Amino acid sequence: MVETEGVIKFNLTFRTEKLGGVDIGELSAWRTVLKDLGLLGQTPGRYDGYGFGNVSQRCAGGFVISGTQTGKLDAVTLKDYAVCETWDLQRNAVDAKGSVKPSSESLSHASIYDVHESVTCALHAHSPDIWQHSVEMGIPVTEASVAYGTPEMAKEVRRLIVDMDSPGIFSMGGHEDGVFTFGRSLAEAGQLMVHELVRARALI
Ligand SMILES: [Zn+2]
Repeated sequence: MVETEGVIKFNLTFRTEKLGGVDIGELSAWRTVLKDLGLLGQTPGRYDGYGFGNVSQRCAGGFVISGTQTGKLDAVTLKDYAVCETWDLQRNAVDAKGSVKPSSESLSHASIYDVHESVTCALHAHSPDIWQHSVEMGIPVTEASVAYGTPEMAKEVRRLIVDMDSPGIFSMGGHEDGVFTFGRSLAEAGQLMVHELVRARALI
């Protein structure tokens, strides 16, 4: 099953509010690197022109995540992020605030934070190279029948990563080119993503 990006499927309670006091400097720098590598962005001809890829980091009161459909932006500031304050994977619900609504894949990020207390950040990229070679590279893959942004995906993510060390990587079988890394620091998660991209390229 192949899906387009960008459609928020969870029940979002959103409060428009100017964010303050959240340091997104390093997160945004990694976002730029992912964009430079073609792992995040918005490109005609890819995914029907929807933006793809998103980044998040724990912060006081929840986690900060890229806003929905911000992939086209070259540079981002805090107004392009939302803070997810509470979430309920069973009810498929997220409470968030910011100047922009949170990424449509916020629940997958939330499920990672729920499973691993030590994880501080999660990067969601779109890499045909890694995705297509996941099995060959020994990367766990979520069931192809499970769609992103659903309680089933949250359960599936939990199943895959519950015994995984940090940093970790997994691919999303039902979400074309979708790959996640997570870590105890942005350096861990970012470096793993780049490292796995190089491993995949070496197989081509
Ligand atoms: Zn995606």
